Amino acid sequence: MSNPTPKSGRTELASIGEFGLIDRLRAKTVLRNASTLRGIGDDAAVIDLPGDECLVVTTDMLCENIHFDLTFHPLAHLGYKAVAVNVSDLAAMNARPEQITVSLGLSNRFSVEAIESLYEGIWAACENYKVDLVGGDTVSSQSGLVISITAIGRVNKNKITYRDSANKSDIICVTGDLGAAYLGLQILLREKADYSANPQMQPELVGKDYVLRRQLRPEARTDMVYELADLGVVPTSMIDISDGLASELLHLCHQSGLGAQIYEDKLPIDKESYDVAINDFKLTPSVCALNGGEDYELLFTIRQEVFEKVKNHADLSFIGYMQEKTAGVNMRTTGGNQVEVQAQGWTHFKK
Ligand code: ADP
Ligand code: MG
Repeated sequence: MSNPTPKSGRTELASIGEFGLIDRLRAKTVLRNASTLRGIGDDAAVIDLPGDECLVVTTDMLCENIHFDLTFHPLAHLGYKAVAVNVSDLAAMNARPEQITVSLGLSNRFSVEAIESLYEGIWAACENYKVDLVGGDTVSSQSGLVISITAIGRVNKNKITYRDSANKSDIICVTGDLGAAYLGLQILLREKADYSANPQMQPELVGKDYVLRRQLRPEARTDMVYELADLGVVPTSMIDISDGLASELLHLCHQSGLGAQIYEDKLPIDKESYDVAINDFKLTPSVCALNGGEDYELLFTIRQEVFEKVKNHADLSFIGYMQEKTAGVNMRTTGGNQVEVQAQGWTHFKK
């Protein structure tokens, strides 16, 4: 890796990566308003309101050929996904979504009907997550379709779940299952390559419905925000899994000043994902679960005392516990080895 600050004074983005860049920007950012309870560094910013609740704000941008490929991503699914990934960041704060704005970079390659298809998905997500589309911006783009969404939600002040507030011995929980979205993407990329080599080829998508859906039309786990509230459980920390479990667990550990112990045999993997990983790609399913991105499940920690309340929840897995920082972030493999958890999630600028 090159020196981050060479003599020329030019630092390559690749040398510090996305997270290094965000850390640098955060360190130099001045907050001036007492109402800014939390700025850069969590899944969403937290803004004070009079009364019991806070406002929570997040924004995410999707760029054509970086985050999606229109040769296989139907526009309606893309619109749905663009909303879901933002609502997911609100869920990670334990917040309920209320409003979104949608900004588009467009070229005249798109017809009005195509943009309306995109909005069919956006409107469907608004209906599903009970949010109002309240504005946005439309500009022209020469570098493909760009979709930037901002989502606003609310959460009770004593129920906000940050990334930096896990405690030693807390139990680490994951919603749903992991790795499917990555495997869905691998299927789509494989079919695209086969089709360009031979346009007569019929796509082989039978038995892949789940992994394809997880990639093309993921859901935010807002349902879990409501369920945890019903169970009377407030996680001690929470993050959504957009870049892969390993990367997100390291964020929770790093920001909470702790280590973690997880277990490979506790990682939740769906049967179809398991079969696709092994049969189609000769990949280890747990590696897909740890490092595959875009599952949009929630990773959170709870105090041991509340385990009784959640232990029978069908859609939760308990994958390990938090420990002293000096003990490291490790996974016990199915074979009984202890390995260090390393982030191999999306490092956009790294070569
Ligand atoms: P997530 O994966 O949850 O969307 P990110 O890794 O994108 O989170 O961002 C982490 C934090 O950095 C968030 O608080 C986000 O608002 C902030 N952030 C990301 N990019 C920028 C930027 N260009 N300027 C300021 N803050 C940023
Ligand atoms: Mg997030």
